[in-house]
Amino acid sequence: MRCPFCQNVELKVTDSRNAIETNAVRRRRECLKCNRRFTTFETIELLMQVQKRDGRYEDYDQEKLIRGLDAACLHTHVSRDQVRMIAYRITSDLLEKGVKEIQTSVIGEMAMQSLQKRDPIAYIRFACVHRPFKDVDELKEAIQCINIHEETRGEYAIEEN
Ligand SMILES: [Zn+2]
Repeated sequence: MRCPFCQNVELKVTDSRNAIETNAVRRRRECLKCNRRFTTFETIELLMQVQKRDGRYEDYDQEKLIRGLDAACLHTHVSRDQVRMIAYRITSDLLEKGVKEIQTSVIGEMAMQSLQKRDPIAYIRFACVHRPFKDVDELKEAIQCINIHEETRGEYAIEEN
C-alpha cells in the first residue's frame, strides 16, 4: 500500500474499525513522509464492480480513474495531488454509501462534477473523452454551464483539505 498523495510506502495505522455498512475493514492511516492522513478500505476490490459501456464488469480501479483525470488535467490549474484527492474522494464516497456495483458513466459524472468546480478546461477535456459531444451545439451548451458556474464560484473557494 502507498500513500495516495505522495506514493510513499511507509505508513502508520492510527486506528482501525469495522465499517458495518460496507463490510469493509476501515483504517485510518498516516503517511510518515508527507504526514497526510487518509482512510483505507481493505476489501475495496471485492466490494465494487464497475460495469463498462459494453456491459462487461471489472474491479473498481482507482488508479484508472486517476489516469483519466491526469490526462484531462495536464497543464491546467489542477495539480496531481488534487487529482489524487478527487479520485480518493470519489472512492470513499462510493464505499461509504455501500455501493457494490456501478457504471463507468456514473463515476465519470462524479469526476466531471469535481472538475467543473475546479477548472473549466480540465472539465471540458474530460467530458470530451467521457461523454463525447454530439455536435458543436452540445459543446457550447457545456461551456455555457461553466459560465453560470463561474459566477457562483465563491462557494467552492475553500474546497481543499
Ligand atoms: Zn504521503
